[in-house]
Amino acid sequence: MLYFDNAATTRVRPEVVEEINKYMLEEFANPVALYRFGLAQEKNINQARKTLADVLRVDPAGIYFTPGATWSNNLILHSVLSKNDKGAVVTSKTEHSSVYLPILKHDNRKIIYVKLDDYGRVDYEDLEKILLENDVALVSLMHVNNELGSILDLDRAGKIIKKNSKALFHVDGVQGFLKQETHLMASGVDFYTISGHKIHGPKGIGAMYINKDVKLNPYVQGGGQESSMAPGTHNVPGIMGLAKAVEVFSQNLSSYKEQMKEIKNRIIDGISQIEGSRMNSPEDGADNIINVGFEGIKSEILLHMLDDDGVCISSGSACSGGKKSRILEAISLDKKFIDGSIRISLSYLNDIDQVDQLLGYLRKNVESIRKIMVA
Ligand code: PMP
Repeated sequence: MLYFDNAATTRVRPEVVEEINKYMLEEFANPVALYRFGLAQEKNINQARKTLADVLRVDPAGIYFTPGATWSNNLILHSVLSKNDKGAVVTSKTEHSSVYLPILKHDNRKIIYVKLDDYGRVDYEDLEKILLENDVALVSLMHVNNELGSILDLDRAGKIIKKNSKALFHVDGVQGFLKQETHLMASGVDFYTISGHKIHGPKGIGAMYINKDVKLNPYVQGGGQESSMAPGTHNVPGIMGLAKAVEVFSQNLSSYKEQMKEIKNRIIDGISQIEGSRMNSPEDGADNIINVGFEGIKSEILLHMLDDDGVCISSGSACSGGKKSRILEAISLDKKFIDGSIRISLSYLNDIDQVDQLLGYLRKNVESIRKIMVA
């Protein structure tokens, strides 16, 4: 099988599986228990908290473990937007549904969508203009777009937001975490969300960073775990697995980056030789996400043909469930490419040999679909 859908999810690293097993089979106590067996787990999850905080360069007290990024984004957005102030929300039309939909739900707020260019990159001048002309309570923008790979310059956006407004700054960091430079404190980010399964960790575990100066009134109530920000019995195997995934990813960062660059260049080169193709991802986008459109084809057909060849690839985000991509429509992509766009997303488990096979299958299938569609 050729797996090129790593923005949807990744294979868990063997070291992570080993760690999870340890916390399921041996160290299984509840960390809030008062005996030594439980206290040891409290220590372990606080060590895991520190591992994440060190990578994000924040105080560990600002890190809360959650059941994933959908959960974290919802908790943060609903908590901030249900406050009594009247400030507007600034966001973009290409946010993940776990951001886009909670914001829409607060329809008593003015929602302002920042301008994007044809590759999904934020127009920073427009962001500044919006902040100067409106009373804004929250800016919510993603770090790396999951369909296009467009990158938000956190430093630049953060400086604009903090200089021109009192707005809080929320960043969905799922696709950027570990893959892009992050210095949350220096960038003025107030909230940042991450997910375990995008970095070779387990599914159903994530974390959020919350600036300690921001007081939130979380709507989920329960046993008070995670300082009442994410109550519920701690998923210790998930937390320890997530921390292990972060640790191993960080240790291999420079070789990962080189590998991604080499593979991405090979893919771009190969695809540019297929007639009627358009790179939807920006040139300065993430190295692990490549979105490309083929004129005169339907991506669903291409995906099925690739599936028959043993290739896993998607036409957009895993969460859009095969519907036409809201993200590609938002960047005003020419209709002839929207229908025939696919996303290739990479991990350290991909290599040049797999890429050459993928390119061969792409050439073959695009050609045969075009023949069928013309006939
Ligand atoms: N935000 C982005 C950008 C994502 O790609 C995803 C996963 N598709 C999520 C949020 C949701 O993360 P989770 O699967 O942890 O709920």
